[in-house]
Amino acid sequence: MIKKIFIAVFFLVVTIFAGMEIDKKISAQNIEEVANGPKILVLNYHQVNNSFTPLAVPVNAFADQMNYLVDSGYIAITPDELASGLAGEITLPEKPVMITFDDGYIDNYTNAFPILKALGLRATVFMVPGFVGKPQYMSWENLKEMEKNGITVQSHTLNHAKLEELPDDEIRNELLNSKLMLEENLGHPVEFLAYPTGTYNLHIAGIASDVGYKGAFTVKYGNVDLGSNMYALERVPIFQTENTMKSFFERVEYRQSFEEFGWIKR
Ligand SMILES: [Zn+2]
Repeated sequence: MIKKIFIAVFFLVVTIFAGMEIDKKISAQNIEEVANGPKILVLNYHQVNNSFTPLAVPVNAFADQMNYLVDSGYIAITPDELASGLAGEITLPEKPVMITFDDGYIDNYTNAFPILKALGLRATVFMVPGFVGKPQYMSWENLKEMEKNGITVQSHTLNHAKLEELPDDEIRNELLNSKLMLEENLGHPVEFLAYPTGTYNLHIAGIASDVGYKGAFTVKYGNVDLGSNMYALERVPIFQTENTMKSFFERVEYRQSFEEFGWIKR
């Protein structure tokens, strides 16, 4: 009897250690893969104008930032390319950047768009279809013209609702009907989402996946890489500060070290 128990315990211990060994190998391999894989910078803007609010990046500062990206060898990519790149279907440029705007303010069209167009930079607008045409926001015509010139429009929910406070059927309505409304008006698939105020949880992320999104963006600070969750993608928010260009430079160029010095990814 004692012998049997001894043998059982022995096998249990061996199994546990073997399991740990396998886990360790898998995670070491993953860490290496993530470290050697692509690092995608995803910038997040809201307004581009000369008012004195943190959400608004001054027009000259925005132009300087876009010129800095071009001069430093960044190549602007689309959310589709980000997803295909992470899936290993395409090779991403060495310094990929995704330039994104949330909410759909009119100054994205009047101020940011001419700068992006002049530099040949592609960008993504996460639009709230419920805001289209309201004062301060872009019209369908604005959005369509931008889409002809390298800007893609994706979803930022139907009404910019606080998703975490809604029952499931309303979360579904916000995520699915914004997608359908944008698709109907713009005539292309809408497969990417940015959570309003960056807030999400695993439950909301599950609904986003269910209704057909391929990926969703947060405002978690960091690079998107092979360790990223496709429904909790990192972005680097850019605001107006006392020295907007210096803050921009630090956020863009030191993001790797911030991560290495203990910024938690997930
Ligand atoms: Zn927003």
